[in-house]
Amino acid sequence: MPAAPQVSFDRIHDPVLRRIGERIAAGERLDRADGLALYRSGDLTGLGVLADAANRAKHGDVVTFASNQHINPTNICVLRKTCVFCGYARLPKEDGAYRYTLDQVLGEAAHAADGMTREFHIVGGLDMKAGLAYYTEMFRALKANFPHVHIKALTAVEIAHIARIEKMPWRDVLIALKDAGLDTMPGGGAETFSAAVRERISDKKLAGAEYIGVHRTAHELGIRTNCTMLYGHVETLDDRLEHLQMLRDLQDETGGFLAYIPLAYHPDDNELGRELGRQGTATTGWDDLRQLAVGRLFLDNFQHVKSHWIMVTPSLSQVALHYGVNDLEGTVVREKIYHAVGAHTPQAMSLDAILGLIRGAGKVPAERDSFYRILRRDFAPEPVPAGAA
Ligand code: SF4
Repeated sequence: MPAAPQVSFDRIHDPVLRRIGERIAAGERLDRADGLALYRSGDLTGLGVLADAANRAKHGDVVTFASNQHINPTNICVLRKTCVFCGYARLPKEDGAYRYTLDQVLGEAAHAADGMTREFHIVGGLDMKAGLAYYTEMFRALKANFPHVHIKALTAVEIAHIARIEKMPWRDVLIALKDAGLDTMPGGGAETFSAAVRERISDKKLAGAEYIGVHRTAHELGIRTNCTMLYGHVETLDDRLEHLQMLRDLQDETGGFLAYIPLAYHPDDNELGRELGRQGTATTGWDDLRQLAVGRLFLDNFQHVKSHWIMVTPSLSQVALHYGVNDLEGTVVREKIYHAVGAHTPQAMSLDAILGLIRGAGKVPAERDSFYRILRRDFAPEPVPAGAA
C-alpha cells in the first residue's frame, strides 16, 4: 500500500483546496463535489501541490517512458462523417484514403529491427475491409518478425467494429486477437462519455457504457488496457467528472487499467473546430495542467497518469511532471492521428530529448515496458556544459 501523500500546505492558498488536501493526507477518497471544487479553483499552484503529493506517494521522483512506435494501418472509417472532431479519417474513395497491406505494415515496423523499440501502438479507422483476419494476420506476422516487441492495439471502438462486421461477441473477438498476439489495448475512443456530448461530437460512436463494457471484458480475459478522456471541446466540468467516475468504478471492479491519459482536443482541420469558430485555439496550458492534476487526485486507484506530449507539447508535459504525471508518451515514431487535426508538436522524440525533459524537471528518468515494469535507469549522465564548475 502506498504511503499517504505528504502535502506542503504552505504553498496552497485556496482554503477549499486546503480542506481537500487535509482529507487526501488522511487517505480519504474524493467525491464528485470535491472534483468539481478542484476544477473550479483558481489556485493552480495549490492544485499542483496536491497532485504532486499524491504522485510522489506512489512514484517518488521517478518518471517513466517507453520506446514505442505508432502504426496506423488504415484511415478509412465508417464514422468519417459523424465524428466531427476527427481530421484523420477518410471515406474509401476520398483523397488520402489508405489501407496498408501486410507488407506495408511490416515495412513500417522495420524500425523495430534496431532492437530499441519495445512496443507497437496500433490504432486506425473503422474500415469495413479490415476485419478480424486483417488484424490476426498482422499480429501473427509482427510477432514472427519482432518477437521482442509488445503489441498494444485496437481501441474499444475498433474491437466493437470488428465484432459487428464479423457478427461475433466482443469476447470472442478479443480471444482471437489475444491468441494472435495482442498483449494490451490502448485507451482511445473514449472521447467524453456523457450521452449529450457524444450526440454532439460523435453520435454514431460506441456509447460510454459500451466502451466500459469492452474494457471490462478485456480485463476479464487478462488483457490490461489504458483509458483516456478527450477534453476541451463542448463538454462541461460535470461531464468530465462523470467520465472520471466511470473509469474509477471500473478500476475498483477489475483493477485492469494501467494508465489514465487525458487527450487535449485540437480544433484545427476538423468540422467541430470550424463550427465552434475555434481554429488555432487549442486547450490552454492551465486547462491541460488541471486536467492532469484532477485525474491524478480523483483516480486514486490508478497507478499511472500519462502526459501525451504530442497533444500538449513537450514543454507543457515537462511542467506536468509537477502536476501529478509520472509517465510521458514514449519515443513515438511517426505519429499521424493528432497531426491530422493540427498538432504542431514533433512527430517523434529521440531518447536524448526525453531524458533531457525529465531531468530538466528535476526528475529521474526510467525506461519501462508496456506493463510499467522498470527496464532501465542506467542512462549516461547529462553532459556538463564546457566551463561549468
Ligand atoms: S475518431 Fe476514430 S472512429 Fe471517429 S472518424 Fe476518426 S478514426 Fe473514425
